[in-house]
Amino acid sequence: MINHAIKDQVAEATRIFFEKGYSPSKDGGDLSIKDAENDLVYICPKPGRNVKITNWGVIRADDIVVIDMDGNIVASDNHILPTIEYKMHLAIYKSRPEINAIIHAHAANSGVFAIAGLDIPILTAEMYQIGGSVVCAEFGKAGSDDLAEKMIKALGKDKRGALLKNHGTVALGTDMDDAFRCADLIEKGARIAILANILGDPQEIRCEDIFSSR
Ligand SMILES: [Zn+2]
Repeated sequence: MINHAIKDQVAEATRIFFEKGYSPSKDGGDLSIKDAENDLVYICPKPGRNVKITNWGVIRADDIVVIDMDGNIVASDNHILPTIEYKMHLAIYKSRPEINAIIHAHAANSGVFAIAGLDIPILTAEMYQIGGSVVCAEFGKAGSDDLAEKMIKALGKDKRGALLKNHGTVALGTDMDDAFRCADLIEKGARIAILANILGDPQEIRCEDIFSSR
């Protein structure tokens, strides 16, 4: 029932996540993959007594926790607990069945918008790929049901990303590569918006105006 290839995949993605600068601390942000066939979620651990890591760059497959859709631990080495944000990951999977991978980042550029409590506007054509502007959810305490509910509301039915106020970013994908593409687009979109506002007065565009109808 436990798919070790998925544990490897989450661990490798977590190391890449760290290398990209999406988590400067040892437990900032987290990733998960849903095994839709078995209704299981493979997710980053909660660092602590049983997971002694200095940062996400050293995470191994044995550190990855497997939980069911109710948050019960199905498989975990050395009594390792899932990340405290597991409720948010599960809530997203339940509300968006097409999503099979989630990246929750504490990245710099999108973080500026999250701290300011502002949506990331659509300034480039490629933003259509993440459903347009990236909405900043209302503030919720880390690890709470309240935060999970506010994130679901910000994501709506078709957004591929949203911001957690004073906290970070969430990017969704049909698989982990897709989730990274969304996370990268959000981070790039945030950087472009910050720099464009320094240079001048950038005009937001609408998704429906990006492509010709022909
Ligand atoms: Zn976080």
